[in-house]
Amino acid sequence: MTLALHWFRTDLRIHDNQSLASAHAEGDVVAIYIATPKQWQAHYDAAIKLDYWRRNLQMLEEELLQANIPLYYFEVATYKEIPALLEKLLVQWQVNSLHCNREYPLNEHNREAAVAAVCSKLGVQMQLHDDQVLMPPERVFNKSGQPYKVFTPFARHMRELLRPLEGREALTIKRQEVVALQPLNEQRQLGELSWPAIDPVWKKLWPAGENYARQRLTDFCEEAIIVYDEARNIPSIDGTSRLSHALAAGVLSIRECWRAAHLFGEGKGSEIWRNELLWRDFYKHIIWHYPHVSRQKPWRDDVSHVPWQHNKEEFLRWCNGQTGIPIVDAAMQQLLQIGWMHNRLRMVTAMFLTKHLLIDWRWGERWFMQHLIDGEFAANNGGWQWSASTGTDSVPYFRIFNPVTQSRRFDSEGAFIRKYLPELAHLDNKSIHDPGPERPSSYPAPIIDLGFGRERALSAFKKQVDFFYETPE
Ligand SMILES: Cc1cc2nc3c(=O)[nH]c(=O)nc-3n(C[C@H](O)[C@H](O)[C@H](O)COP(=O)(O)OP(=O)(O)OC[C@H]3O[C@@H](n4cnc5c(N)ncnc54)[C@H](O)[C@@H]3O)c2cc1C
Repeated sequence: MTLALHWFRTDLRIHDNQSLASAHAEGDVVAIYIATPKQWQAHYDAAIKLDYWRRNLQMLEEELLQANIPLYYFEVATYKEIPALLEKLLVQWQVNSLHCNREYPLNEHNREAAVAAVCSKLGVQMQLHDDQVLMPPERVFNKSGQPYKVFTPFARHMRELLRPLEGREALTIKRQEVVALQPLNEQRQLGELSWPAIDPVWKKLWPAGENYARQRLTDFCEEAIIVYDEARNIPSIDGTSRLSHALAAGVLSIRECWRAAHLFGEGKGSEIWRNELLWRDFYKHIIWHYPHVSRQKPWRDDVSHVPWQHNKEEFLRWCNGQTGIPIVDAAMQQLLQIGWMHNRLRMVTAMFLTKHLLIDWRWGERWFMQHLIDGEFAANNGGWQWSASTGTDSVPYFRIFNPVTQSRRFDSEGAFIRKYLPELAHLDNKSIHDPGPERPSSYPAPIIDLGFGRERALSAFKKQVDFFYETPE
């Protein structure tokens, strides 16, 4: 008997799962999941996200059993303890090969390397699969053989590379014979693993399971995708797919998303939606090629010494939606209440924090991770560095969004603000964006004069950039 082990991480699905399918093609498959609560804490993983993982695991376990694939749970504190645990498991179960889908941030890369060393010592074949991305980072270089630093040529190249794969069938698995293994002392039940406290509302807001996510993808591609190019910027409507949490947890295959959008036509909406999927790959490639971004460093050198204000009071007002700028506060309330924020508002709130308040983008990045159901290192870091003008292909530092102008443009009737800030609901469509004297006493005055904040940021960034490129006499 050839025994192949599939190790589930952020690939919590059966359908079109490269590692699982490859393990299945090799022999009898046994699946494992290793909880790492201290590591999750160190990565600021949000309770709502961990709860979504737990609920998916529960459904996955049941679905795997239909195919006679057992899923065994283990728990260690951090990634450091994983190699020793796996060594024991590989020996006792006499595993022939270990399969997993590659994760690209630095800590995960180091974890993979440590496990590969154990496999090599034991003579177990380890296979890493590039399942999380449309194309592996090593396949997409520019003409000089360098990773792309700018999105548009990257996207053009990706589209060429992806064209031949558009008609490819999804990977599936068949039912296997029952596999009986010697139980290990370290084995746990799902209910025995350490998960943070849960909120029953989340279950309703964000249903788990790959069938749900795949149905949502189909519904989106049949309808909303057609007008996505316009609807995607309006936070008061359901104009985007809301699949980011499923993609981040690997409950949905990224290739399936690409194929579905292709199947439903070549309209502008589908074209732009697929561009967003390419941004996802772009940031994953960036963190792979530039490990310094995984060490809390700005991608760009020329702005590595911006004099960030470490003003805790202002930061907390931003966190809790108390800045007195309605669109920012409504967005921060959305994050707190449903664990997700509309993309336009992620840019608006991130830019307000890093430019008008000149607060360190790393503080904002952490707050988002601690609250997002879709918190994902590459996209979150990419989005923050884009907004702070410290990233690759990020917004130029002098293009500062005015949050009130953004509000008038993308929430023109104030529907989004009214939903999340009921204390402002009575204001008319004009004053709701910037209440001034109409401000009710229950709502704070603006935390900062927007003109002052803008000028302070411009001057701080300009000094940095001028200094960096200055040629000594
Ligand atoms: C400051 C900031 C932080 C962010 N943090 C995260 C994060 O932690 N996790 C995350 O998945 N996305 C993040 N994003 C990107 C984006 O805001 C979300 O992916 C999007 O809002 C999710 O909603 P949706 O599924 O309806 O997206 P759709 O508009 O339907 O897009 C489809 C999919 O494309 C991907 N995508 C879309 N936009 C981007 C982008 N700019 N970068 C990378 N991938 C993208 C997502 O997987 C998304 O589900 C962040 C953006 C900013 C500006």
